[in-house]
Amino acid sequence: LDITTIRHSLAHVMAKALLELRPGSKLAIGPSISNGFYYDLEIIGDFSTNNFIELENKMKKILKQDLKFEMHYKSIKEASDFYKAENNIYKIELIEDLEKQGEQSLSFYKLGDFVDLCKGPHVTSTKDIPKDIFKIDKLAGAYWRGDEKKPMLTRIYALCFETKEELETYISKREAALLRDHRKIGIELDLYMISEDVGKGLPMLLPKGATIRRILERFAVDEELKRGYLHVYTPVLGRTKLYEISGHLTHYKDSMYPIMDIEGVDYVLRPMSCPHHFMIYKNKPKSYRDLPVRYAEIASMYRKEKSGELTGLIRCMGFNLADGHVICTKDQLKIEFIKTIELVEFLMDKLGLSKITSYRASLRDELKEKYVADSSAWDFAESTLIDILNNTNKQYYVSHGDAAFYGPKLDIQLETVTGKDETIFTIQIDMIMADRFNLEYIDADGSAKKPIIIHRSSIGCMERILAFLIEHYAGAFPLWFAPVQVKLLSVSEKHDTYLDSIYNKLLENNIRVEKDTRNESIGKKIREARLQKIPYIIIIGDKEIENNTVTVRNRNTQNQNVLNSIDFINKIIKEDKDKVLELNI
Ligand SMILES: [Zn+2]
Ligand SMILES: [Zn+2]
Repeated sequence: LDITTIRHSLAHVMAKALLELRPGSKLAIGPSISNGFYYDLEIIGDFSTNNFIELENKMKKILKQDLKFEMHYKSIKEASDFYKAENNIYKIELIEDLEKQGEQSLSFYKLGDFVDLCKGPHVTSTKDIPKDIFKIDKLAGAYWRGDEKKPMLTRIYALCFETKEELETYISKREAALLRDHRKIGIELDLYMISEDVGKGLPMLLPKGATIRRILERFAVDEELKRGYLHVYTPVLGRTKLYEISGHLTHYKDSMYPIMDIEGVDYVLRPMSCPHHFMIYKNKPKSYRDLPVRYAEIASMYRKEKSGELTGLIRCMGFNLADGHVICTKDQLKIEFIKTIELVEFLMDKLGLSKITSYRASLRDELKEKYVADSSAWDFAESTLIDILNNTNKQYYVSHGDAAFYGPKLDIQLETVTGKDETIFTIQIDMIMADRFNLEYIDADGSAKKPIIIHRSSIGCMERILAFLIEHYAGAFPLWFAPVQVKLLSVSEKHDTYLDSIYNKLLENNIRVEKDTRNESIGKKIREARLQKIPYIIIIGDKEIENNTVTVRNRNTQNQNVLNSIDFINKIIKEDKDKVLELNI
């Protein structure tokens, strides 16, 4: 039995059960969805989450009854009269639409005394559905037909999977993920905020979130500089003609913001920084000796998202990508591509994400319609990508149809806390843009040639990697990128001078330290610091001053260790510098 059919059949069962509990309620629609099903209805009387068990029990009773889904037809008039009798404006509207589409008779399904307009298919009998594979999930308001000028209905969501085990796994994974949701932790730890006045899809990083971003950014930029990248700054606006040349205006228009006319010149918020970097390349003539050229930038860009899909730091109206373009000869392509993979792998290793990585080779689909035509260039780029993955012994899978419109790409996927793969880093081979933007270099024989371009991100999009790390670590970040690394707590005010001497030494060594010298109990100070998930909490009282020590509380173990204060400071500096992922004190 197909799970979609089961889910949809259960939607009828739920509607029948609800009508028994709340007679006179009016049905609208009840489709299956990816984790279950819902039904939109106008409910007569109160209905809240308190009634879920009652509704579930009613449904289970119906399932036990071995009721058959029996189909019959009604003419448009019969159907319409049927719903006029109960004054159901929703079904009447559906029937009017079906009539306009030329339907003459409509299929209805009967389930005991319950009748519903529906195309099917359904299970044969309610006893075909196991009683323990569904759960009423939540209530939501839903405008009839998604139109805010139309009545608001109640949507009852239910989860449904093929087995009880699958249902339970889904629920427990979702609960675990909710606890780690970056939107929850991000607010609790004061990492970012969203202001309705600024805009729903425009998150702002608060000082602590900004600290994490700055550390990650410096880390990525420094590593790129070591590996031969040249960093640039380019503007978020560009003339529209750049994107006409690149083809984004044709292939990518739905993701771009409206064009701005400024004194007769068209500008657009950039969805990509590539053309800006190409213009930098063209600023001076290049010879084969200059290649490869590697430009990089933490580049702001703006892409349109539907307002309903804007979520936290993951789906935003704009974002900041650790972007870069390697412009090289055909002979240099393989080695340069491998270097970009090595850079991403190095960064992921330091972030503690290596173990949850997978590789996806995104190629054209069979039809090849939505891609820029130049078959031989595509064939070369695709086979180079596959060769590289085979030669470097990467475990990868191929995904047809996920290529960019101008070239194949390697997507480096990370597994989220719910077990889903998300693309966090991308490396693309582009044989098209050099031609379009007329990028050239003079080869050894004096002839002008077109280079190949690798588009790549190193640490990905700053907002996305931040969201990912928040969820991966549930806000308990490794020391090296924790916004506050050490918190000093004094037992009473007579300990403040000694506390300050340690505080200043840590500050001088660029350790991110906070102090709590309020006149509060030490127990309260510890509890508050723990909620902030600070790696090390330091307690300073009489004994510590007497022996020139500190008492260190480790976030993970809750162990308290007494260390000589200078030893402690040196250990912290070393753990920070070495970017160790575990807490070792
Ligand atoms: Zn149906
Ligand atoms: Zn690019």
